[in-house]
Amino acid sequence: MRTFLFAISLLFLCNCGSTSINPSVNNTSKTSVDVATTYANTITISDLKSYLTTIASDEFEGRRTGEEGQKKAAKYLGEFYAKNNIKSPLEGGTYLQNIPKDFFRGRSDYSSENVLAFIEGTDKKEEVIVISAHYDHLGMKGRKIYNGADDDGSGTSAIMEIAQAFQQAVENGNGPRRSFLFLHVTGEEIGLFGSKYYVQNPVFPLKNTVTNLNIDMIGRVDKAHKKNPNFVYVIGSEKLSKELKEVSEKSNETYTNLSLDYRFDDENDPNRFYYRSDHYNFAKNGIPIIFYFNGTHKDYHQESDTVDKINFEILEKRTKLVFYTAWDLANREDRVKVD
Ligand SMILES: [Zn+2]
Repeated sequence: MRTFLFAISLLFLCNCGSTSINPSVNNTSKTSVDVATTYANTITISDLKSYLTTIASDEFEGRRTGEEGQKKAAKYLGEFYAKNNIKSPLEGGTYLQNIPKDFFRGRSDYSSENVLAFIEGTDKKEEVIVISAHYDHLGMKGRKIYNGADDDGSGTSAIMEIAQAFQQAVENGNGPRRSFLFLHVTGEEIGLFGSKYYVQNPVFPLKNTVTNLNIDMIGRVDKAHKKNPNFVYVIGSEKLSKELKEVSEKSNETYTNLSLDYRFDDENDPNRFYYRSDHYNFAKNGIPIIFYFNGTHKDYHQESDTVDKINFEILEKRTKLVFYTAWDLANREDRVKVD
């Protein structure tokens, strides 16, 4: 999540007045529920802990865009996908989409990299769902290391687990109908540059990009939910597609039963979170998005955003919600409609 300073932006015009008939979300028959659950159950606290402990370790030096620690993290992510037989969609098999230094307009002293991995769908493989999270963070100030465990080590490790779950499904002959791009973006904290670069240089045509599910900070519980930590803020889910919100709610009702908090969908909310993470670059291009978020906390953008403060039970549950929503989006008959 980037700081508010950079968040001032034009009001997004929404089509709020339109009406639509709610199509039924009908692929939750007994069998499909069982199949989805089999793979969701490969998403575990112990895996999430293991990935996040590495990503937010001092070795990666706070993962500042362009610097050594970020590049080490990129290499770690690429090796993870290679080890799991999840391919790169890029030429030559590299997982790294290089972004030249100039693209960062003086905010990075070096070039940097997005990390991309891909699972091809079956009969609807031309249509792509992008699951994104940024893996860069604030780096170091003097000897202080900003580990960014929640921001956004939590989203980074969630994507790894989701990708692994879908790959397991592929290996068992239950692969998704639509394709998945797992997109670990850089340059978020300095101005959403990695996602901006991707939408300007997409690997798959944006018109075939069905949805973007973006995860930025899902490992903590904010003050407002101390008494009910079983929640997640869901932002922007109906802004471009009412059907997308229905899919999200149905997935939650069927499987995860989190309390979905929509308070930040209010156009008058002063935080303007809708404009402050990578999904916004997809939304700008007319692609329906959901942004998953746990709210800010006293460790937000502090060196105290460390792994020991992560609530792994809730991280696992939220990761599963994203997985189940992605499962429905990938396997339903028609792509969600933009209205
Ligand atoms: Zn941030």
